[in-house]
Amino acid sequence: MPVQKILLTRFDLDIDFLMRRFTAGKKALVLVWESAGIWAAGWLLLAVLRGVLPVGIVYLTKHLVNGLAEAVGAGLNWQSLEPVIIPAALMGIIMVLMQVFDLLATWIRTAMAELIQDHVKGLIHEQGGSVVLTFYESPDRIDGMQRANSQAGQSSLSLLQNIGGILTNLITLIGVAILLLAYSIWLPVLLVLSTLPALAILLRHHQLHHRWWKATTADRRWADYYDLYQTYNEPAQELRLLNLNKVFHANYQTVRARLRSSRLDLLRRQSLAQAGATFLGLLIMAAIIGWMVLRAVRGLAQLGDLALFYQAFNQGQSIMRSLMGNVGQLYADTLFLEHLFSFLDEEREDLASDDDDSEPLGIERAIELEDISFCYPGSDLLALDHFSLVIPRGKMVAIVGPNGAGKSTLLKLLCRFYEPREGSIKIDGVDIRELPLLRLRRMLSVLFQHPTRYVASAAENIAYGDYRGEVNREEVEAAGKEAGAHEFITRLPHGYDTLLSKLFENGAELSGGQKQRVALARAMYRKAPVVIFDEPTSFMDSWAEIEWLDRFCRHHERVNNTVVLITHRFTTAMRADVIYVMDNGRILESGSHEELLRQGGLYASSWASQVESHAQDPLRVVA
Ligand code: ADP
Repeated sequence: MPVQKILLTRFDLDIDFLMRRFTAGKKALVLVWESAGIWAAGWLLLAVLRGVLPVGIVYLTKHLVNGLAEAVGAGLNWQSLEPVIIPAALMGIIMVLMQVFDLLATWIRTAMAELIQDHVKGLIHEQGGSVVLTFYESPDRIDGMQRANSQAGQSSLSLLQNIGGILTNLITLIGVAILLLAYSIWLPVLLVLSTLPALAILLRHHQLHHRWWKATTADRRWADYYDLYQTYNEPAQELRLLNLNKVFHANYQTVRARLRSSRLDLLRRQSLAQAGATFLGLLIMAAIIGWMVLRAVRGLAQLGDLALFYQAFNQGQSIMRSLMGNVGQLYADTLFLEHLFSFLDEEREDLASDDDDSEPLGIERAIELEDISFCYPGSDLLALDHFSLVIPRGKMVAIVGPNGAGKSTLLKLLCRFYEPREGSIKIDGVDIRELPLLRLRRMLSVLFQHPTRYVASAAENIAYGDYRGEVNREEVEAAGKEAGAHEFITRLPHGYDTLLSKLFENGAELSGGQKQRVALARAMYRKAPVVIFDEPTSFMDSWAEIEWLDRFCRHHERVNNTVVLITHRFTTAMRADVIYVMDNGRILESGSHEELLRQGGLYASSWASQVESHAQDPLRVVA
């Protein structure tokens, strides 16, 4: 059977597969060099030195034993002691050097581990922040990112360590083989052969382990999720009230049991195979030692030769084992590293190198959405269906509609988080796909439906709206006032310097509505020409809604910005110059509040029922 066929049938290896290992290894070495070049060079130099020294020990053993055999009974004089003292002293020096090199190696390894870890994390974070957002819609690709994230740093370091290990062990092995050649040409060959079964088992094990690890990524992510939810502050209250802790605990245990039993099963099979290989190795070793003892008995070898031979063969076998460990591990590292490199190759957002967000794009006339159709990745449902809309410059546009109508989807397309399947979005007649992405986003100030609360001070939470390394306190407070957040922030223990989370010392927790106001303040701080707010008043009561809208409309008139309000509240929408009513991804009606009421369509009937349902609330009726 040709070698390739054997490799393919027995180990699922083919040339293409090996080439991929090789490419991953090569890329990993470049990565190691970029993150810890000097240290890596030092490590390889040490690897060579650590390979040479043990050969010296084996060689000196022969002289020491022969010297000792001659010195026995020869009396205490320099002539008889010299053949003992000199090799013993040299052996001592080598042993001290070996210890020093071991310590040095530990130091270098730790430094490299830190540097590589941070470098790889940096690459992963950069990629995580640059991949197209459809990436986060695919569980498969998220699994891949998780694999890259969990192992990449370790694997890169391990790769270098194993290359160092192979270098060290190969040098020692060649030295030992040369020493053994003096006895028979077959000895080095037998030495290598005696360890081959174990090598095959090791490679097979690494491959099975990697296959298991890959197949169980989703299970491990589930385990992480259940683990997090039982130890994290945010869901703690709801889990207690609903008594869901037990459910999550049981789910965690079920997933872990599955992971554990498959892992242990793999380990059991590997241990059995390894025991067989070790036994075979021992048999070969016993046979060869027997042969050497016979030679000594026949007077063909001295005591020193016997000692050298034993040391050399014994060391040789242990070096071969460690060499195999290195090769196996190297192979496993390249398997793991492939996930890193395929994650780093994921498609990124379309950023030109000279694109920077220092200057927002201006808008002269209007933003126009022309005949847009869009489905989310992996879904055939049209979230927007031949959808057209005009947002004139300097106007306030409201988009109303029931849940699931496609309102937030519209926002995501405007930000270019996703590309429409059909149609185009134009600013002053230019397709936004032709505009620099960062500058396009810089012109938008967005309040997301579920805004992010950052674990940072209140001032930073607001200043992140336009953060360039420092916080403009005056503007932060002005934005806080515009958003109606100033009062409760100044009442916090450290005012604007209070950390908005109890995850760390001296933090404070905000109510849902307060968090939303902080997010609003962040959007106000940004001072972009186009403002898009997704359900800005959903957390506000009637009083607060009217007060905030009054303030916001005054602000809009003052700065003359372009505003899009996405809302299901008619009391918010009615303030807009133009209202678009949408459902099922389509525009059904449009016009001002009065025009829409006169039309007597969906808006008019929904308005009537919303006013009626709030009849108990005089403020809404007044509004
Ligand atoms: P609205 O903001 O009007 O409540 P959305 O724009 O969020 O509605 O959603 C429009 C449609 O798209 C809904 O049917 C919703 O289920 C679907 N949808 C929203 N986000 C995603 C997503 N990430 N993947 C698949 N479908 C989605």
